[in-house]
Amino acid sequence: MARVNFKDTRKETRTLAGKPVPVVVTARFARRGRLAVFADGLKSLLSGMRLTFGYLARPSAIVTRQYPENRATLKLPERFRARLRLKFDEHGYQLCTACRLCERACPNASIRILTRPGTLSKNELDRYIWRLDSCVFCNACVQSCPFDALEMTGEFEHAVFDRRLLIFTLNRYAGPPAGVLLKEPDEAKRAAAMEPRDVYGGPVPLNGADLPSVKALAVRPQADPARQGAAPAPGVPA
Ligand code: SF4
Ligand code: SF4
Repeated sequence: MARVNFKDTRKETRTLAGKPVPVVVTARFARRGRLAVFADGLKSLLSGMRLTFGYLARPSAIVTRQYPENRATLKLPERFRARLRLKFDEHGYQLCTACRLCERACPNASIRILTRPGTLSKNELDRYIWRLDSCVFCNACVQSCPFDALEMTGEFEHAVFDRRLLIFTLNRYAGPPAGVLLKEPDEAKRAAAMEPRDVYGGPVPLNGADLPSVKALAVRPQADPARQGAAPAPGVPA
């Protein structure tokens, strides 16, 4: 085995294809014997085994997290980003005004906002569609929102067998934002202005449509873990 000594170099000019080319010439260490190479390998093996047996003797020193066994006690960094979520106020009303700034800020079109004419406002959110399958978690959408209507959460367990299940409708209802709804004193009118939306409903997430390499899937609405435990919007089923 020959090794290069980078400390012992010299510059030369050599001719390549008839042209002078500056090169750096390095000296070589002497070829090492098989015994020395074997000794190196043995040393490396023993140092690895020392670490392994050290952890065997002192399990408390292990830093590797045993996921998923530790799911109940798993602590992620506070700013860990794994899932985009629309924020709702204490009444369950959405803060999103469908201004589309986040859609424009997204570098890879992972957000699609569908709007519709509203009863209480001129324009209101119909569907807030987020593609987890293409999101790079850059947080540009969250930072671009002037209404603090978006947040990233640490919910990272997204394994599915069909990537269409990674496309979500984030809003619980189609309708105006909290600022508009709270101006309407009649609760019945507020409830009428909000039409329930489910996580996997709508034109996207491609329910019933083919992707280039995946056949259509009849997606049954599923409970969204991000919404479990959250207060439902007034007049809107949880
Ligand atoms: S985190 Fe980045 S890539 Fe993902 S939806 Fe937001 S802006 Fe788009
Ligand atoms: S989440 Fe914020 S930036 Fe995006 S459409 Fe709603 S209000 Fe606008």
